[in-house]
Amino acid sequence: MRGALAAFAALALASCASTTEPRNVVELPGAVALGDTTWLVPGRFDPERSPDGNSVILKGTAGAILVDTGRYPSHAERVEKALDELGLPLAAIVNTHWHLDHVSGNLALKAGRRDVRVYGTSAIDGALAGFLADSAAASSKALAEGRIPAAAVPDVKGDLATIGRGRKLRADIVVDEPHDAVFAGRPLSLRIARRAATERDLWIYDADAERAIVGDLVTLPVPFLDTACPEGWLEALGDVARSSARQIVPGHGPVMDMPAFARWRAAFGDFIACARGRSALETCSAGWVSGAAEWIGGDSARAKAMADYYGERVRSGKLDGYCRA
Ligand SMILES: [Zn+2]
Repeated sequence: MRGALAAFAALALASCASTTEPRNVVELPGAVALGDTTWLVPGRFDPERSPDGNSVILKGTAGAILVDTGRYPSHAERVEKALDELGLPLAAIVNTHWHLDHVSGNLALKAGRRDVRVYGTSAIDGALAGFLADSAAASSKALAEGRIPAAAVPDVKGDLATIGRGRKLRADIVVDEPHDAVFAGRPLSLRIARRAATERDLWIYDADAERAIVGDLVTLPVPFLDTACPEGWLEALGDVARSSARQIVPGHGPVMDMPAFARWRAAFGDFIACARGRSALETCSAGWVSGAAEWIGGDSARAKAMADYYGERVRSGKLDGYCRA
């Protein structure tokens, strides 16, 4: 079934002059239309659970391109529904990075679609042998010892099953260097960030829409500094700022215009500088919560606790290994 066309009158368009694209905006279920050829399927971050990353659906002339696939089956189902409504075959999946909240859905969304190819960096290879193998071993041990709260057991088992099939998450087409490509008739520029949120992240500059889809180079309610090199991440944000983007699609959280992105980037820079400095870590996390208050809203207790955790990772040098070549 095709989506209902919401035709916008010229006057209505004139009243939202900041929007560059829209003519005929197609609404897809569970998705936010960003202009008339791009949709955001927002990732959720429910209390006491791990997050899903955002997914983005791009319409090409000959098919749809999907950026990131989420963690939980419910997210992949939302993407599947939106694709179904769009009525175009899925042509390609692009993964911004290997974190499970961005790639787990590859398995379900590729099933029954033999022609779909996944594009991503090779950084997942090191993660499968290192971070993911270690976290699977730790989770299995905690499960066996009954240390996982009952409510979290299904999610932990889900991640373990995904890691068990980890080699199937690897990209079919490895993109380790910047590369301009045409997917299903739609030109996209694939950009590479070294030692940022992971050892090698991919972000997308969509010149036609003046939009950057940046994966976890921008996240909320906090910067997810799990496998990150903070200084490389800051450099990558500079590259994003120097692109001609007028809009940023984060890996977690709502779409931002460039002034909002600049505010997020400044809050991130301040947080890293503070955590690398001598102030109490409490001051650093409070600074983050205040700098990012416009997005955190009522979620400040969780954001503060997470910022405490990540600030300690920066301060104690736990992330320094991610900054080495
Ligand atoms: Zn993420």
